[in-house]
Amino acid sequence: MAYQSFESLEELHVEITNKCNASCPMCARNIYGGRQSPDLKISEWTQEDAQKIFSPQFKNLKNILFCGTHGDPAVAAQALEIVELAKTQTSATVEFYSNGSVRTPSWWAELAKIMKTRDQKGYYRSTDLCVFSIDGLEDTNTLYRRGTQFSKIIENASAYIKAGGVARWDFLVFKHNEHQVQEAKALSKKIGFSQFRLRKTTRFAYSPDGPEKQRVLNKKGDLEYYIEPPTQKHLVNKNKQVFDTMVHNMDQQKSPQPQIIIRCLNKTKFQRIYVNALKQVYPCCFISSDTFSPKSRLFRDYQEKVSDKYGWGFNSLDHFQWSEVLNHPWLKDSLESSWNSSKKQLKRCARTCSSTVDPITSQSEDL
Ligand code: SF4
Ligand code: SF4
Repeated sequence: MAYQSFESLEELHVEITNKCNASCPMCARNIYGGRQSPDLKISEWTQEDAQKIFSPQFKNLKNILFCGTHGDPAVAAQALEIVELAKTQTSATVEFYSNGSVRTPSWWAELAKIMKTRDQKGYYRSTDLCVFSIDGLEDTNTLYRRGTQFSKIIENASAYIKAGGVARWDFLVFKHNEHQVQEAKALSKKIGFSQFRLRKTTRFAYSPDGPEKQRVLNKKGDLEYYIEPPTQKHLVNKNKQVFDTMVHNMDQQKSPQPQIIIRCLNKTKFQRIYVNALKQVYPCCFISSDTFSPKSRLFRDYQEKVSDKYGWGFNSLDHFQWSEVLNHPWLKDSLESSWNSSKKQLKRCARTCSSTVDPITSQSEDL
């Protein structure tokens, strides 16, 4: 059975640009919050790209998720035109994730007018939604969302909401902002956000400083400060400890990888596929993210198990049609059959989508 098909897919997750105005310390686009990663190949979609990617062949498409792994969609030069294409070429709803600190209030009001669908049936969302990632208040948001400006974000979000857009405030919780959760929630209500969501990261597992802190560097590579997980137990991801241990053991390669039962999130929960800024199709943003830096262990794992066999260009929508990419042997068969073998399964699938630990969906909690 194919991994995903035109019929099974209900969601396109798209990264329309890998440019960003911010430099968050846990984002792979930069080095611990400092300078941009030299491995990042900057790229961005045009309207013509979007026309091709939002294909009418996806008969059951319910949602298009604009959320970059290395970029903020609001930065893309043709972002409004591309969202408009999503709305006119498909009947999907749109979810648009941004740090909110680029563009002007009138640009955000324009986005709200485009994202105006109401009463869309199906999937988990009945309206289009803009998610503003705001991790604190005036004095703390920039400790994580480095390079952003709180007052500008609030102006932009207010303009979006006033123009009729539905918005959610996502708050990534750390030690430095945990005392502001309730105040931020009250502010979100006052402005008119319809939802307020806590995000409890598991990414401290990847920190070079151990799972209880992570360095934040400036553009010269000097240490500026550390970020730390929240101290209040109910604000810490319930999978943190077990995930920290799992990542540590896998990275140390202390023993051969045990057989892990995979429950692919995109197959079992979201029926989603991912297209990155280079217009390459991957089963998910996690694997796509592993393929950009040759220095990472997960890159080498992908190389050994996938690209040494199939090369690098087979998933490019610049060179192939959607049907060719979806019917490529890796996406059609090998990926899924690899889950049954500890030697063949990607380390990424094992750590992100195992049946015993759920580091992704456990991150979110609506308040
Ligand atoms: S706003 Fe998003 S894309 Fe930009 S640096 Fe932060 S996490 Fe990365
Ligand atoms: S990491 Fe593997 S198992 Fe998880 S969503 Fe991606 S393809 Fe599926």
